[in-house]
Amino acid sequence: MKSDGIFTHDYKETAYWWDEVPAPEAGTTLPTSKLDVVIIGSGYTGLCAGIQTARGGRETLILDAERIGWGCSSRNGGQVSGLLKPSLTDLSKKYGPDLALRILQEGTHSLEFLKDFIAEEGIECDVRLNGKFRAAHSPAQYDAMAKKYARQVNGLELDVDMVPRAEQRSEIGSDAYYGGAVIHAHFGLHPAKYHDELVARARSAGADLVAFCPVTGIEKRGNIFVIKTAKGCVEARDVIIATSGYTDKSLPWHRRRVIPIGSYMIATEELDESVVNEIFPNDRIVTDSRKLVYYYRASPDRRRILFGGRVSLRETNSKVSSPLLRDEMVKLFPQIGDVRVSHGWMGYVDFTFDSMPHIGVHDGMHYALGYCGSGIATASYLGMKVGKKVIGDPDGATPLDQTGFDTRPLYYGKPWFLAPSVHYYRWVDKLGR
Ligand SMILES: Cc1cc2nc3c(=O)[nH]c(=O)nc-3n(C[C@H](O)[C@H](O)[C@H](O)COP(=O)(O)OP(=O)(O)OC[C@H]3O[C@@H](n4cnc5c(N)ncnc54)[C@H](O)[C@@H]3O)c2cc1C
Repeated sequence: MKSDGIFTHDYKETAYWWDEVPAPEAGTTLPTSKLDVVIIGSGYTGLCAGIQTARGGRETLILDAERIGWGCSSRNGGQVSGLLKPSLTDLSKKYGPDLALRILQEGTHSLEFLKDFIAEEGIECDVRLNGKFRAAHSPAQYDAMAKKYARQVNGLELDVDMVPRAEQRSEIGSDAYYGGAVIHAHFGLHPAKYHDELVARARSAGADLVAFCPVTGIEKRGNIFVIKTAKGCVEARDVIIATSGYTDKSLPWHRRRVIPIGSYMIATEELDESVVNEIFPNDRIVTDSRKLVYYYRASPDRRRILFGGRVSLRETNSKVSSPLLRDEMVKLFPQIGDVRVSHGWMGYVDFTFDSMPHIGVHDGMHYALGYCGSGIATASYLGMKVGKKVIGDPDGATPLDQTGFDTRPLYYGKPWFLAPSVHYYRWVDKLGR
């Protein structure tokens, strides 16, 4: 392959984060007794829910089809924002201005929740409270950002500093952008260390975790759920679905509402410290203003660049996506033109038709899903909320309870419209809109 020279000799097709954090230990067999709660999915949603139910005295079992934390929660970009995607104007048309504002404020609440939770629990996960630089990929995008942050909505204010192009080298070692905005509340963490610490807390609260145990179906018998898995059946009074972009045929109603879209990442080989310092002078996380966004940051030890985005029309594998991502990264940072890639990986994020996360109950089973690519804060927050709902704590209520969770005709879980959509967004990004 022509691009082979760009890979290090020990190139891995696994998340860079996994080098430092091995798969958490887990049980291999199912309990035989009836449980209070079974949680399907062992990412942030499932674990934060399980921490609540186990601490609330409920016998809790967390299942995963793969290793514990195998989904997005141990392989993401480690960029914490908590923003919900829809605008206040769009949401107000659907829900009225009051509920729309309260829904969007849940984004801020999720960010605050996560910051406090990490501090109160003493979670060690390489938190970097240095803010985010949002880079404008066109002059029009810089103007739009400046306008948006100059006239912030009451109740949704963010502490933001605009940085014009002439000064952007103080934020990023690139001339490819047209300035940007520093959003001070956003921050970075090590996603797999955060996940690992959640596992420890779920376990010490009394929850059991069983890995490599795909759920294949769920049946309701009276007021008990029978959860069928590859390892046998288990019974529970409550079920929480926390399967994100990996929601499969065993959950057909949820599958019709989640759009799995691959997001791809690379890690570079170790770079000279001076190069990383030039590119990330303030150690901020970075995203840009493209629809097909590039997101990147320095590794916590500041020796590598971790770079992510969507570079193919259709889903592909890391051997194909890594050279494409590397090309995009080098366009932004020509000073690392000969850099090699040490890790390349991908994961499925869970988009929804209204670009909002959803929490609710269907057929008597609780769910929290649909983080649309930014779920570190929202999955943790809605996981906590859904756990509280199950134990009957009124703090489990959220304005998101009042939104419906819609699908579209002819959608059954395979996004056949993905390639034309990516094509369209590429075109919009090229125009700088
Ligand atoms: C490459 C990448 C980069 C990202 N970057 C960021 C970022 O920088 N910032 C941010 O906020 N968000 C980011 N995200 C998104 C974020 O990681 C997710 O939104 C979040 O981790 C979702 O957590 P979760 O617990 O809901 O789901 P997941 O962590 O995906 O867990 C779902 C689990 O459910 C299991 N499962 C599914 N079906 C079954 C079944 N039938 N039986 C048993 N188990 C099942 C899966 O095996 C999986 O482990 C990124 C995602 C990816 C893939």
